[in-house]
Amino acid sequence: MTDVAFDVRERVTSIIDGESVGVSRRGVDFPIVNPASEEPNGVLREADAQEVDAAVRSARKAFETGPWPRMGADERKAIFRSMHEALHRHREELEFLDSLNTGVPISQVRAMHVARAAYNFEFFGEVLSQESGEVYTQNPNYLTYVTREPVGVGAMMAPWNAPIPLASMRVATCIAFGNTCVLKPSEYTPHSMQRMVEIFHEAGLPPGVVNLVNGRGPVTGTALVTHPEVDMVGFTGGSETGKIIMSEAGKSLKPVLLELGGKSANIVHESADLDRALDGSLIGIFSGNGQQCLAGSRILVQKSIAGEFIERFVERSRKLRIGDPLKAETEIGPLCYENHMNRVLSYADLAREEGAKLLTGGGRPEGMEQGWFVEPTAVLADDNSARICQEEIFGPFATFLVYEDLDEALRIANDSEFGLVAYLWSQDLNVTMRAARELRAGTIWVNTPIYRELRAPFGGYKQSGIGRDGARGSLEFFTEPKTVSIPLTDFPMLKMGK
Ligand code: NAD
Repeated sequence: MTDVAFDVRERVTSIIDGESVGVSRRGVDFPIVNPASEEPNGVLREADAQEVDAAVRSARKAFETGPWPRMGADERKAIFRSMHEALHRHREELEFLDSLNTGVPISQVRAMHVARAAYNFEFFGEVLSQESGEVYTQNPNYLTYVTREPVGVGAMMAPWNAPIPLASMRVATCIAFGNTCVLKPSEYTPHSMQRMVEIFHEAGLPPGVVNLVNGRGPVTGTALVTHPEVDMVGFTGGSETGKIIMSEAGKSLKPVLLELGGKSANIVHESADLDRALDGSLIGIFSGNGQQCLAGSRILVQKSIAGEFIERFVERSRKLRIGDPLKAETEIGPLCYENHMNRVLSYADLAREEGAKLLTGGGRPEGMEQGWFVEPTAVLADDNSARICQEEIFGPFATFLVYEDLDEALRIANDSEFGLVAYLWSQDLNVTMRAARELRAGTIWVNTPIYRELRAPFGGYKQSGIGRDGARGSLEFFTEPKTVSIPLTDFPMLKMGK
């Protein structure tokens, strides 16, 4: 028996113009599978290019003639407030659906998913209402002012690891400034997405502002990104997909915001509070079943403390409670789908081939043949050039490296094609300040795991992304600045052709 249960829709379809789309005779269906039991719990109807076209046309109509881009900031903010409240009202149901589809333990979904999604609307409601233009009066003969206008129709794409917080971030940042959008979440986790978009409409969002289409990336995703009526693309997902999306969008010069993968260094310095560093390192790699872009998956430990720290980490990893994600006590649930589990497991074989030492885990938990569970795994690598140190594994898989001094730690940390976040554990101010300056990543967490400050920019260096979410970053991406200059005097004008 699980600790929580709500009804699950048998069928997931698109939502266009505020209405669920019916199922025609033609079209491709996929089972939606519970990763803990491997049992199907619904059917997804894939949106083909024609359905994507209908969704984009709805968003275009809402943008060209609908109330959303034209309404005053207070009115739009009031609808954001109502969306925030509605998400809270339906919180338990949405948390259940996100945990059911993703396999992320319900206790972690409760801490991070729906409350965060609701906050996205509260926060960006505030941002949209506070935003004002610029005025330039330095030239006394002219008044020049700058307004920010919505860009148009956005293609908003989200991954499966945290559907509600990540898809809501894409939507909130896009529509806050008067844009409309089509959301394409992951085909693996559609249940909470369908309810979320329904709830937006129940909360008073006008039809056409947020449309939902579902399906595989190369089918539904490609049709959306390449649609001529889409003006910009906001994408959260893997770096390889990000490259495909950017090149497709580039053919018609659509701007792209890309929030991509990571292989983040988690540096434990000998000056750290080691108890807190241990707690934080376990959260950094094992929360969300390790399926997080910002996972601290490369744990760099200083030689002087490495033996004891790694031993304690392994001991705690072995005690993690693996099981049904819908049970409150579970700490590690199943991975989201079978091929992903096999991919994560293949890195344990690779670790052995690369000469790394398997410290714990590396297989499926004994006695749990049903469900796509992987044991919390830790390996000790010889060298940062190994593939287990360079590639994003995206599972409960920690790779340890031992370093001599801070110079070496920083060199290893920065020796990566990714640069999303970096973690540092140290009580020494000089160490902290130097590391914060020299680490090449979009966010540095000092003595804390995973803290998102929405006011500040979030995004990646290098192949971890392009652009930033956050108050200013989102405003800049999702609006066009328009400069208006008006002379204040009848200045003498050149009289051509006289
Ligand atoms: P993914 O790249 O496979 O898929 C993301 C989305 O893109 C899905 O909706 C998918 O259907 C779609 N897609 C896939 N191929 C496509 C194509 N060819 N054309 C158009 N759309 C396509 O990623 P995923 O496996 O769902 O998620 C895991 C990845 O997401 C990891 O790499 C993780 O690091 C990254 N991620 C990044 C952030 C961030 O904020 N930087 C947050 C969460 C996850």
